[in-house]
Amino acid sequence: MFDKELLRILRCPMGKSELRLENDYLVCIQCGPKFSIQDGIPVMLIEEAELPDGCSNPEQLPCIIENANKNGTH
Ligand SMILES: [Zn+2]
Repeated sequence: MFDKELLRILRCPMGKSELRLENDYLVCIQCGPKFSIQDGIPVMLIEEAELPDGCSNPEQLPCIIENANKNGTH
């Protein structure tokens, strides 16, 4: 079983937002992708995550867009 203490430490890999536990997934509260938990270990890779409905490309996720804006050197 997933250790809920980890929830307090883990953050969305894209935007550093908090995550919530949803069945066997961790879901970013801001951008919504579902990271699966395998053998108690969350797989925090956007390549492995289930993207939210209506999102076909991780580039469209709010966390990534926000991060890009923060770090942007236009
Ligand atoms: Zn996120």
